[in-house]
Amino acid sequence: MIDTKEFTVLDAMELKLPTIFALSLPELEQWCLDHQIKKYRAGQIYRWLFPMRAKSWEEMTDLPLELREKLAASFSFFTSEIESHQIASDRTEKLLLKLHDREFVECVVMREPNRTTICISTQVGCAMGCVFCASGLAGLTRNLTTAEILEQITQLDRLLDEQEKITNIVVMGIGEPLANLANLLPALERLHEGKTFNFGSRRITISTVGLPEKIRELARIGKRYSLAVSLHASNDKLRTEIVPVNKNIGIREILEAAEYYFEQTGRRVTYEYVLLSGINDSPRDAKQLVTLLKNRHAHVNLIPMNAISLLDIGGSSQETARTFSHILNDAGIVTTIRKRKGADIDAACGQLRLPKIHDQIKG
Ligand code: SF4
Repeated sequence: MIDTKEFTVLDAMELKLPTIFALSLPELEQWCLDHQIKKYRAGQIYRWLFPMRAKSWEEMTDLPLELREKLAASFSFFTSEIESHQIASDRTEKLLLKLHDREFVECVVMREPNRTTICISTQVGCAMGCVFCASGLAGLTRNLTTAEILEQITQLDRLLDEQEKITNIVVMGIGEPLANLANLLPALERLHEGKTFNFGSRRITISTVGLPEKIRELARIGKRYSLAVSLHASNDKLRTEIVPVNKNIGIREILEAAEYYFEQTGRRVTYEYVLLSGINDSPRDAKQLVTLLKNRHAHVNLIPMNAISLLDIGGSSQETARTFSHILNDAGIVTTIRKRKGADIDAACGQLRLPKIHDQIKG
């Protein structure tokens, strides 16, 4: 008999048990039936896992001890461990999660009045090689599984106050989400279920570097996810320098795929534009961007980059960001400047996993 009190995450990893969070409610019901357990118990377990935010089997006090032991012998609770938990002065919180194979991934919760947004990762590392991005410095190691993507959400959810709820999810952490659609989409599907988070697709934003075929694939699945395309440059020459994967794609093709996304879903696409001092932030760049986006269903989100000392890239000044924004707004392109969140814990865009990578590079 397994003593659930002694049953740790590492035990579960060594035993290679599947995580309970990987199971949908019908799958858990089937597991119950297969083990001669009444089907309604699955609903009870689910209530503990999601609205009740349980952190261990022993908290599930309305389940018979025998069932809790059976669950502990069959499933791991979390498959990741919290390696570090940082809290910034603006209450942004960042988790560094250690995965079962000792790889690391990060996820973040950001707070604003009436809004609690989480940012999750989809890959260990990233193959896209954007020059300003600390997350992709060491290249791609592997895709995250559906369970690992979901587990970031359940881990972050357990950081919230009792009355606090996740209101928005952005898939903008480490990795290129559309390069791991096969695992991402089932994870998002689980969020829609009434017994989990009951989360509408419009409150989920998927960010991409701009993979046209994958954008079209996403457009055809019949969901209305918000799509954010990381453009970062207004001509192909510069974009290929900043976002090397652009070399074989080209901005035009991305814009056409984004228009297709709008036609299929009715969702206007957001273009993310990281402002890099002296690289892509001149009035001329802004005017080129106007030419590209005019008459398209576009919204531009300017991201004041946090300086990354390791990469020797500086962020644009507030004044430069405002001038850039005015040029776009004056041309009728709705443009916002994103607020910096969590800068003091490296939780800002492009900084996830920086300290770990920094350690590796500095040896
Ligand atoms: S910005 Fe995004 S797509 Fe580019 S390297 Fe970083 S994680 Fe990958």
